[in-house]
Amino acid sequence: MSGTSERMLERDEQTTLWLRDNQINSIRSQIPEAGKLGPEDCQECGNDIPMGRRQHGYDLCVECASVREVMERG
Ligand SMILES: [Zn+2]
Repeated sequence: MSGTSERMLERDEQTTLWLRDNQINSIRSQIPEAGKLGPEDCQECGNDIPMGRRQHGYDLCVECASVREVMERG
């Protein structure tokens, strides 16, 4: 046994691990950040919140948001 083939095997293993990590990273980068999206349903009336609003982190539907806006203005 010279040990050469053993060392090559070790290097192959590291390459495989490196490739695996790279694949995991590329898969992870496709998933949107957790907590970025708002809830699916309005916290006030339970209506569906449009994806456009959820992407901005809103937790109220358009109606409830405008009602709250009016209330906050007094
Ligand atoms: Zn609502």
